[in-house]
Amino acid sequence: MERDRAYLAALETLDNGKPYQDAYFVDVPLSIKTYRYFAGWAGKRHGQTIPIDGDYFAYTRHEPVGVCGQIIPWNFPLAMQAWKLAPALAMGNTVVMKTAEQTPLSANHVAQLTKEAGFPPGVVNILSGYGPTAGAAIAGHDHIDKVAFTGSTEVGQLIHSMASGNVKNVSLELGGKSPNVVFADCDFDYAVEMSHFALFFNQGQCCAAGSRLYIEEAIYDKFVEASVARAQKRKLGDPFDADTEQGPQVSLEQLEKITELCQSGKDEGATLATGGTKHGDKGYYFQPTIFSDVKDSMRVFNEEIFGPVMQIAKFKNIDEVIARANKNHYGLAASVFTKDIEKAFKTGHELRAGTVYVNCYNAIDPAAPFGGYKMSGQGRDLGEFGLEQYTERKTVIVNTPGKNS
Ligand code: ADP
Repeated sequence: MERDRAYLAALETLDNGKPYQDAYFVDVPLSIKTYRYFAGWAGKRHGQTIPIDGDYFAYTRHEPVGVCGQIIPWNFPLAMQAWKLAPALAMGNTVVMKTAEQTPLSANHVAQLTKEAGFPPGVVNILSGYGPTAGAAIAGHDHIDKVAFTGSTEVGQLIHSMASGNVKNVSLELGGKSPNVVFADCDFDYAVEMSHFALFFNQGQCCAAGSRLYIEEAIYDKFVEASVARAQKRKLGDPFDADTEQGPQVSLEQLEKITELCQSGKDEGATLATGGTKHGDKGYYFQPTIFSDVKDSMRVFNEEIFGPVMQIAKFKNIDEVIARANKNHYGLAASVFTKDIEKAFKTGHELRAGTVYVNCYNAIDPAAPFGGYKMSGQGRDLGEFGLEQYTERKTVIVNTPGKNS
């Protein structure tokens, strides 16, 4: 992958539409780092010896689960492949992976690389195909021991029930509507830029996107103004141009979904501060969009938009904002911007989310677990916890007759 970095990044951009700069400097290196990280675990996941009553020697073994079916999405095709493939292989499993129908190319090249690297035939199997056919066949198949899925909550629910036929081990990384809480005592310019990044990165197509912004009353107007100015500066263009910050959305279907949700924001009375429609007449570009004066009950504040659309609401105090932020069925990520350490810890600990960023966003590392509370999923990708889904724990109890018998 290091050798083919430019080629992989170009495939990712052609297939997904994301800026080449992002593919080259984020997606490919993060994927490589993930394989390296889990390669390090391959010989280090071992069992325990456990003292139990009587003349016995008890110990645990970590064994592979078996055949792992993995279904991945289109927003970070290479990285999602790495997050799933690396821990499964490191723990000795075999894999049947279905890539997203929109973005099969880079994963196919990685499959080719596994052949070149000498993986035994049959260990890594990468399939292209549609969800309701190829994906469903994996989720429901009796000879598949585990299914790992990243994608929408609706499809995650389907997979969960299809996988119940043979009681598969199931891990799900699903949608999100992550709250980003900005207190008046934050580093203002930094918080504006980070909040912009939290939402607009990858054309807004991130499950962890910081899409529900809660801004403390005292800085609300200034924050909206600065965020609008930043969004209007965002450079849309050919993803292969070096200064392009935002490429097209992945598909017409996504563009239409974003357009429909923006219409609902307008209909429900949110203030459209900037953007709101398709950009230009070529490709699936959508204008960087900001809704302000958003109410907690509005659809744009509750449903995952998966596009470059930011929602901003106002809050008065810490307890109120924590309660409001937690009133959502998702719980993937959250963030807080403040210079007050007590507020940072209190908010960080009380927000119900799998990852909380304090004065940062999207700080993803293969060593740090990632996954959701509530309807954002079950299980964790990455880190030591990411291995849990890929091992069976066997307890062996050996009779060792001694002086007590
Ligand atoms: P998105 O809405 O972001 O496209 P999806 O959840 O629809 O996300 O897709 C994520 C992955 O799940 C893709 O690989 C897709 O093909 C697959 N998928 C979609 N529908 C099903 C299904 N009914 N059964 C299994 N996999 C599915």
